[in-house]
Amino acid sequence: MSETFRAILISRDADKRQSVETVTMTPGDLMDGDVDIAVEATTVNYKDGLAITGKAPVVRRWPMIPGVDLAGTVISSTHADWRAGDKVVLNGWGVGEVHYGAYAGRARVSGDWLVPLPEVFSAGEAMAIGTAGYTAMMSVMAIEAAGVTPADGPVIVTGAAGGVGSVAVALLAKLGWHVVASTGRAEEASYLKDLGAAEVIDRAELSAPGKPLGKERWAAGIDAVGSHTLANVLAQTRYHGAVACCGLAQGMDLPASVAPFILRGVSLVGIDSVMAPKPRRLAAWCRLAEDLDRERLAALTTEIGFDDIVAAAHRIVDGKVRGRLVVTM
Ligand code: NDP
Repeated sequence: MSETFRAILISRDADKRQSVETVTMTPGDLMDGDVDIAVEATTVNYKDGLAITGKAPVVRRWPMIPGVDLAGTVISSTHADWRAGDKVVLNGWGVGEVHYGAYAGRARVSGDWLVPLPEVFSAGEAMAIGTAGYTAMMSVMAIEAAGVTPADGPVIVTGAAGGVGSVAVALLAKLGWHVVASTGRAEEASYLKDLGAAEVIDRAELSAPGKPLGKERWAAGIDAVGSHTLANVLAQTRYHGAVACCGLAQGMDLPASVAPFILRGVSLVGIDSVMAPKPRRLAAWCRLAEDLDRERLAALTTEIGFDDIVAAAHRIVDGKVRGRLVVTM
């Protein structure tokens, strides 16, 4: 008898109404790939929330097993880089969007999409980081590549109590930055300070339409929010500062002016985690192994079970999840 495993499957009917169910599958049901992985841990990102709730068109192949991040052990491989027993991590590459994803006991993927699990992390810790944390790391690296350093002034992190934001706060604090955390959840101020934030501000200061240029408040920024928030972050960035743009929790629009760019030489750097090439991923995971304090990682992580994934997906799109969620399979 063939091995079976549980999976979350999202389907659409003829009227494009979406439904979610937990099903039992066999390896024969999986999509093509050259590496089979026993999924040991996964997570729920904002994007997974959008996929499961159907709030945005993340899923582009039906039906779909959602879940954009996984960590586990290779069961079998015909790919030159991987052998049975290898510990691996997968972030993005369209997994959970166009290729069956992480919310299953087993995944079959292209070996080109995998990176080795860094030795310092367990599968659960790698998923506590997940796409959100690795995006935070790439955002930090983008600010560094722009030549801005902690000596230049404070850094602002928006959506600070969320997944990208929490990891960004922890990383930047460890690297010596004076971190200004912007949040809509005043009750999370002590959580953010414990992660290393030096100041916590109310996100309402940034989320309404503002002026093209404001008082110079920070040398750098990591923005997970978009819309007016990003416009205001740019308008309040110091001369020759840099802002990494990685999210759209407030909106996909950017109602800004060119003033910060042409009058203050501010740089806006885009961050994409999904199709980031392998060398960049390996560099980010290497930096995470060096620069992310594991106690702070534990402090920003909540463990949930496989059966909690769908409810967590609804909570994350409502902005109610603090830090990162880890699902141990
Ligand atoms: P979370 O839901 O964990 O965090 C988002 C945070 O944004 C919330 O916790 C909240 O923070 C803040 N927020 C939510 N709604 C609003 C609003 N209306 N106005 C202002 N702030 C708001 O999500 P993630 O951290 O997983 O992802 C954050 C963003 O980054 C998402 O848009 C996601 O799609 C994007 N992303 C992009 C990637 C890329 O490759 N570019 C990769 C990963 C994520 P608080 O309560 O502190 O105010």
